[in-house]
Amino acid sequence: TEELIRKSEKLSVLGELAAGVAHEIRNPLTSLIGFAQLLKESDEEMKDRYIGIMLTELKRINDIVGELMLVAKPQAVHFENSSLKDMLESVVRLLDTQAIIKNVQIKLNTFGEIPPVYCVENQLKQLFINLLKNSIEAMDKGGLIKLTLTRSKGNVIVEMVDQGSGIPRDRLEKLGEPFYTTKEKGTGLGLMVCYKIVKEHFGQIHFESEEGKGTKVQVKLPIYPLSVV
Ligand code: ADP
Ligand code: MG
Repeated sequence: TEELIRKSEKLSVLGELAAGVAHEIRNPLTSLIGFAQLLKESDEEMKDRYIGIMLTELKRINDIVGELMLVAKPQAVHFENSSLKDMLESVVRLLDTQAIIKNVQIKLNTFGEIPPVYCVENQLKQLFINLLKNSIEAMDKGGLIKLTLTRSKGNVIVEMVDQGSGIPRDRLEKLGEPFYTTKEKGTGLGLMVCYKIVKEHFGQIHFESEEGKGTKVQVKLPIYPLSVV
């Protein structure tokens, strides 16, 4: 019976996800159809505007499909020993331009000797990109994102503290559910991907947040997850 329950849970999650995907993709598609029709009968100036809107909608569909592919099953995963410090440094570099535009500074501090972590490097990078991007996007007034890397016994802990808008209390426990977004151009899939990646690394992710003050995310990863040996 336990197996049955698990299966039916999986199916219902899948059904919800499919319904969500269909809905999220249909909106931009409907708008694309509408604007394609308008294009046929509009002058040059309006054409430019419509094409701009159409490109935005196409990008949205592309983003949704891209993030779904990250959670879709067969993907070559390769576990190896990698340096979290190097990963975080490269992710920070990657997001630097975006941060500077928003007047956000990202500071990385490492405490003590951090051993390499047995992980899929690309996935962990994706995890930290998604989290950092959310922090940057939440900081409309600019400010500081404090990233710290520490070791605690058999785990490595990455903590991220931003000075963004914060997350409402009633939303905090629902983070990771697909398609929840407060952004005009958001997909609401970034955190779902994060939860999946952390789970596949036998780690833990935890959010604390205060509206108007900021958000703290803690990711705890086992240095050597026995379960994958
Ligand atoms: P998206 O970024 O596309 O909206 P995510 O799954 O990455 O989707 O995030 C879902 C929502 O969670 C965001 O729209 C935002 O409302 C909230 N959120 C996530 N991280 C933060 C953060 N650091 N500060 C404020 N809100 C956040
Ligand atoms: Mg996001």
